[in-house]
Amino acid sequence: MPDQKNDDEVVQNMKPPYQNPKGVHDILPEDHEYHTFIKKVVRHRCRQAGFRRITTPIFEFTDVFQRTLGADTDVVSKEMYVFQDKKGRSLTLKPEGTAGVMRSYIQHNMREWPQPVALYYIEPHFRYDRPQKGRYRQFWQLGFEIIGECDAALDAQIIQLSRQILKDLGIADVFTLQLNTIGTPEARKAYTQVLQDYYAGKERSLCEDCRYRLTTNPLRLLDCKQEDCRILAELAPKMKDYLDKESVDFHEELKSYLDEMEIDYVENPRLVRGLDYYAKTVFEFWDKNEGAQNAIGGGGRYDGLCELLGGPKTPGTGFAAGMERLIANMKIKKIKVPKKDDLHVFVAQLGLEAKKKCLPLMEELRNEGIKTMGALGKGAIRDQLGLANKFKVPYTVLIGITEVREGTAIIRNMAKGTQETVQFDKVTSVLKKKIGEKNLDKYSPGELLYS
Ligand code: AMP
Repeated sequence: MPDQKNDDEVVQNMKPPYQNPKGVHDILPEDHEYHTFIKKVVRHRCRQAGFRRITTPIFEFTDVFQRTLGADTDVVSKEMYVFQDKKGRSLTLKPEGTAGVMRSYIQHNMREWPQPVALYYIEPHFRYDRPQKGRYRQFWQLGFEIIGECDAALDAQIIQLSRQILKDLGIADVFTLQLNTIGTPEARKAYTQVLQDYYAGKERSLCEDCRYRLTTNPLRLLDCKQEDCRILAELAPKMKDYLDKESVDFHEELKSYLDEMEIDYVENPRLVRGLDYYAKTVFEFWDKNEGAQNAIGGGGRYDGLCELLGGPKTPGTGFAAGMERLIANMKIKKIKVPKKDDLHVFVAQLGLEAKKKCLPLMEELRNEGIKTMGALGKGAIRDQLGLANKFKVPYTVLIGITEVREGTAIIRNMAKGTQETVQFDKVTSVLKKKIGEKNLDKYSPGELLYS
């Protein structure tokens, strides 16, 4: 006889032939409970505020990102998954959500909709970055945008919604809101020149990335995390001294709204957000201990984006947060999300006739809101009860040859180990009473269509 134990050990010690690629991961049922909860929170808060959901495709023409994020940004120059389709067209897996949403706004002529258009999304994004804690190559983001009107009150609303969602998830106190304005593109251009002049002759003290950024994207030198670069950045001329009046007034107005809503913020003159399409307001939620390293999300105003995509001048403002990082923080804070997957009943059977009875019974139980599972493929009752224990069900229904003959079923209380025999047609009502009306899983979207 083959040695079963030995065989099992061999299988356990074997490395599976296929693993997921580096930087991506499966979302297993345990983590889906968090994903589902976050989605519910986002949908609820967005619905309350008049946002409607949008999903743009996983990939777009490369130009959509290249033209808008900026060819010299880290995302475009290093992190995009670019590929060619069979006709040689360049496509890119979306590294962020806003550019695709704006492409869609233009394509579907959303200018004709009541303005501003408020949209939200919950989707996977892709960046070819070095995988590490909190940084993946496929990650989920939730985000929202208000497009079509320019007003500091809209930026305030986006910030308020972001903060409300963090509150609902129980992690608002882990983060500080970092706020800055990077002015209009014209003001930024003038300031960029000032920065380049300041750094002239100091190149040797900069890290390799910053030396490169000095010619391509000088603003990024301000948020470099390398020690020497940070010291130089602190002494650099301040952007606020070069801002135009319009941007300064806009920022003051935004802050007055935040004060009115009692939303705390930290003014951070070195926050720039990296992407070309931002203008005026930029903000991020930083970990109180780790700072920018594990920012949970960020956003800002992007009034020039629509034009970069060939559309008419259309302002916009938005925010995006990373779901993996939200979940990691919820777990650190030991926040338990409501769990709805626990089963109520396990149905065990013996023999073909019993199995025939089980199928309609399981359907009836489920339709009454009793979460039910059966071991229809398993043989011995002992094995089936073992399985019922593993699923931690409070009740098991047993139907054997005798029960079929007598038109009954046994209901077993798994915790107490007691059991009772009931008429087959009473099984559902008896179980409903035991489980309790308020615990039944009665949610059935299909019913709404016909009520
Ligand atoms: P960003 O617009 O790049 O600041 O991204 C917004 C948020 O998305 C970040 O604050 C993170 O929470 C999340 N995020 C961005 N890139 C990644 C990544 N590679 N892996 C996991 N989460 C990410």
